[in-house]
Amino acid sequence: MERKRILIDMDEVMADITQHFINWYKEKTGVAVPYEQLVGKHITDAFPEGHLIREFLYTPGFFRTAPLMEGAVEVVEELNKHYEVFIVSAAMEFPQSLIEKYEWLQEHFPFIHWQQIMLCGSKKPVSGDYMIDDHLKNLDFFQGHKIIFTAPHNANIVGGYTRVNSWADVKAFLLSEEKIQHKQAVAEGVS
Ligand SMILES: [Mg+2]
Repeated sequence: MERKRILIDMDEVMADITQHFINWYKEKTGVAVPYEQLVGKHITDAFPEGHLIREFLYTPGFFRTAPLMEGAVEVVEELNKHYEVFIVSAAMEFPQSLIEKYEWLQEHFPFIHWQQIMLCGSKKPVSGDYMIDDHLKNLDFFQGHKIIFTAPHNANIVGGYTRVNSWADVKAFLLSEEKIQHKQAVAEGVS
């Protein structure tokens, strides 16, 4: 029985990049931008000095020090027992992020083998059964089940996706007894 394949995005899914932007912006400018101000906007339009956001993305250490999304470690570890998990992150736009993302995964997700990590330019060629991502530019090309992880920029988008607001939602959807039992039944040859 082949396990179903899940592709998991990093930024704004495993890593709380939104909070990281808010923290770095406050440290740099003294201005605390509330989360609600980011809803429905592209990230560089959501901060008064949007050019600083792009600067952060190119700053060594930015990706390496990103905070974890709550519950990510526990749920990804559990998913990894029941599914074929790949971490798929578009990293080529910010080449310094390649090693930082790899080290970040090693630190926080040591149970993820390097063969499960795909740091890439575009996600168009990837295939699987489920994709968890915050960006439509990735989900819309995906042929499997599209799971949109809520981020401020996508909060107003409706239709065509299974929306999850947290890792607790991911757990409820992908680690439901029904899904796990079905998987076990197939593995044991019970139809
Ligand atoms: Mg993302």
